[in-house]
Amino acid sequence: DTIGENLERAVTRFGDREALVEVATGRRWTYAAFDAEVNRVALGLLARGIAKGDRVGIWAPNCAEWVMVQYATAKIGAILVNVNPAYRAHELAYVVRQSGLRLLISAVAHKTSDYRAMIEEIGFAETVYIGEPSWEELLRGGAGVDPAALRERMVALGCDDPINIQYTSGTTGFPKGATLSHHNILNNGYFVGELIGYTEHDRVCLPVPLYHCFGMVMGNLGATSHGACVVLPSPGFDPEAALRAVQQERCTSLYGVPTMFIAELGLPGFAEYDLSSLRTGIMAGSPCPVEVMKRVAGEMNMAEVAICYGMTETSPVSTMTRREDDLARRTETVGRVMPHVEVKIVHPETGLTVPRGEPGELCTRGYSVMLGYWDQPDATAGAIDAARWMHTGDLATMDESGYVAIVGRIKDMVIRGGENIYPREIEEFLHTHPDIQDVQVIGVPDAKYGEELMAWVVMREGAEPLTAEAVRAFCAGRLAHYKIPRYVHVTGSFPMTVTGKIRKVEMRERAVELLG
Ligand code: ATP
Ligand code: MG
Repeated sequence: DTIGENLERAVTRFGDREALVEVATGRRWTYAAFDAEVNRVALGLLARGIAKGDRVGIWAPNCAEWVMVQYATAKIGAILVNVNPAYRAHELAYVVRQSGLRLLISAVAHKTSDYRAMIEEIGFAETVYIGEPSWEELLRGGAGVDPAALRERMVALGCDDPINIQYTSGTTGFPKGATLSHHNILNNGYFVGELIGYTEHDRVCLPVPLYHCFGMVMGNLGATSHGACVVLPSPGFDPEAALRAVQQERCTSLYGVPTMFIAELGLPGFAEYDLSSLRTGIMAGSPCPVEVMKRVAGEMNMAEVAICYGMTETSPVSTMTRREDDLARRTETVGRVMPHVEVKIVHPETGLTVPRGEPGELCTRGYSVMLGYWDQPDATAGAIDAARWMHTGDLATMDESGYVAIVGRIKDMVIRGGENIYPREIEEFLHTHPDIQDVQVIGVPDAKYGEELMAWVVMREGAEPLTAEAVRAFCAGRLAHYKIPRYVHVTGSFPMTVTGKIRKVEMRERAVELLG
């Protein structure tokens, strides 16, 4: 199936069941009504002359129109370019130029003066604003197009055609545009839904951003390919709105990155929400702390909550925990490989598969590997080898039963005097210090050892800043001597990407300056 065909199949089977609810406005659509609305948008885009392969950007927080545009572009074979709603003018300009956008669908809230200046500077004129007359104009334009033209376009599409460019988070460098096909993301969404066990009785609450694959693939495509209903609690993340939506809409599933679940569990009124309808959900995107997983499974009634591991370039999910996995496996590993996908763990230099249990680079192959980075053939060749293995840049282990655990990113690994050190292990250990609220560990250049360790710590409210000596004393006898940080930097926060990931590259640059 293409994504459009898959939606129409859902309409045939579940036409009068609910497909989408926008809680903030109370708007709701059945599958039949939603598909009709998608067709109006698709015809509107045809009226604008959008051809197969043209890039159409969407730059908006979560809203029903976002979902409609996703399916409308897929139906006409346009390439949807997801733009992070947190982006500001210069980041948007990069995406507009890099992807060669033909049309931008935007939210009114983004009409700031620097945005206007940017539009002028790059001479980018064609913008449709959701919730403004230009959106209605788009739909009106479509009313004049023969619906047969849409049929014709749909028939002419292939499953391997590119339909989506998603930019990576930019954690390790500049965001790269992963180019994805119908086949890539529809299959991934379908299998995520299949392993969770979605049916037309499920209602999936998505406080996660739609611009990211977490929302648009694991959320939208995961639900729709099984006839489940997507519930959008609020435009941007709001922990209260998320729990209210679960209660009001009797959601059975809730998604989030770890920090979202932490915020929900930490709400003063948490105990008052009725979460009895929940049974499952997904935590993903960055390392999922064991303690948080346990609380989510228990206090949020999500006994079947899954962890997914993946990356934008792999549509995104490569491994996932299963309903039958016990809590230890569901908290300490990222599960097993997805159906029809391969995973191997190799030595980063030799490329040979490492013995079970030993850390190496996780490589993955299968339908889920992207077509390539948009207009960056060198970067593509650096990531996908001749045998089509995607080299993820993540370090992982795999046990005898196939369970994968993420150790860290290769770029973050520290080599001190020939010893490989994984910062995450030291971070987990320092988290047990009563005065430390948060901690990140990086490597800094050192004349003698090649690299030395530096810990950045955020102190708990009211605690005295820790000295390097105090931290080393805390580690002494409990960590191998070479894993004990030489330097300690007390800070208020860490440099972050717009998606909330910590930028160790920037920390390393700043550390070099700090050490002068
Ligand atoms: P960039 O590639 O631009 O540097 P990024 O890799 O952070 O940014 P994404 O594609 O959004 O961009 O994130 C994928 C990465 O997130 C993975 O490569 C992995 O390092 C991390 N990740 C995802 N899920 C998990 C998980 N469950 N546990 C640990 N890390 C995870
Ligand atoms: Mg990446």
